[in-house]
Amino acid sequence: MTTKGRKLSEEHKQKIREALKGPNHYLWQGNKVNYRGLHLWVQRELCKAKKCEHCGKDSVPKNRKRHFNWANISRKYKRNLKDWISLCIPCHIKYDYPLGKPIWNKGKKLTEKHKKSLSKAHIGKVHTVKTKRKISRSMKLIRSKQ
Ligand SMILES: [Zn+2]
Repeated sequence: MTTKGRKLSEEHKQKIREALKGPNHYLWQGNKVNYRGLHLWVQRELCKAKKCEHCGKDSVPKNRKRHFNWANISRKYKRNLKDWISLCIPCHIKYDYPLGKPIWNKGKKLTEKHKKSLSKAHIGKVHTVKTKRKISRSMKLIRSKQ
């Protein structure tokens, strides 16, 4: 029996195409790729996140340029498309925050102490009218300085 001149089956070709897209590609950077690069890769493979798979929202609120993000499910930042889910920013915060590692802090790790104080500070707390006023005042101040 000889394999000379054997034609590749469609299935086989598909497998090769998959392999070239994935970890066996010669340009593959493995796990060395940084966080930003990983996000870009996810965006390239899955396109831009356009809806939230958690709450089902699929429209971007006014005054917002971007409202949906790809979130990592395992938090291990694998190069596995099944490990990513598109979420709206509010759901993403809820999803990411318990670990004290919001998506926009670029993988910076909070100390255990900081994490504890953050989680304590936010449990069951509602701002009083006074506090809200204080916050909006300081926000205005910040904005005027910019
Ligand atoms: Zn959502």
